Amino acid sequence: MIMTNQDHQASPIIVAFDCGDMTSATLLAEQLSPTLCRAKVGKELFTACGMAVIDMLHDKGYEVFLDLKFHDIPTTVAKAIAVIAAKGVWMTNVHAAGGQRMMKSAKAAINELNASTQLIAVTVLTSMTDKDIASTGVLRPLTEQVTALALLAKESGLEGVVCSAQEAKQLRHDFGESFTLVTPGIRPASAVGDDQRRTLSARQALDQGSHYLVIGRPITQSPHPLVALESLIHELQ
Ligand code: C5P
Repeated sequence: MIMTNQDHQASPIIVAFDCGDMTSATLLAEQLSPTLCRAKVGKELFTACGMAVIDMLHDKGYEVFLDLKFHDIPTTVAKAIAVIAAKGVWMTNVHAAGGQRMMKSAKAAINELNASTQLIAVTVLTSMTDKDIASTGVLRPLTEQVTALALLAKESGLEGVVCSAQEAKQLRHDFGESFTLVTPGIRPASAVGDDQRRTLSARQALDQGSHYLVIGRPITQSPHPLVALESLIHELQ
């Protein structure tokens, strides 16, 4: 049976469930509320728990962004995306660098199931610098590479891209309001530093044109995750 999720709540915050096991993911799901945020499951939690963690989050009422960043041959990616779409996952992603055939196959797999899963692309990882991409053979500036890969994603029928808040303004300008921008690296104005370097506040990121904000440690490492989430939502009002 194909499950479909409605956009049942207006909060733009997607909490990164960067947990290592089901027990801590379940505790976090119980501390937060599906009426105030969505949940992002990444490679660590998914590798530890598999689809059981998606079931747990769905049972508790969360819409899930399954952040596995697929990059493989088109058939392999399409089959994996079909499994995700059939689960009723709200959003998932692939690397745009996998190419147009890969992205189109992934999108077709969702459409064939009549599923509502949103498919977005990663352009250039925000951990990469101009020097890093040059060492992989990409000689144009990083910003041009981001724009080129976002265009490829749009032309392949994808709903949007993951992007830094710094990239959001240009992408919003180039691709319009209907192209979904999902932005990590958000910190409350008062936050202490960690390994995220180019951060913006939640309000600033929305003002730059982001639709959804992926926020992990400011919420998950807080002694009171729900209070931290509510205070971030308050910053948006
Ligand atoms: O804890 P923090 O708010 O930095 O978590 C950000 C989340 O967004 C993590 O799950 C991280 O893997 C993810 N992410 C990111 N930068 C990207 C893509 C994803 O920080 N470019």
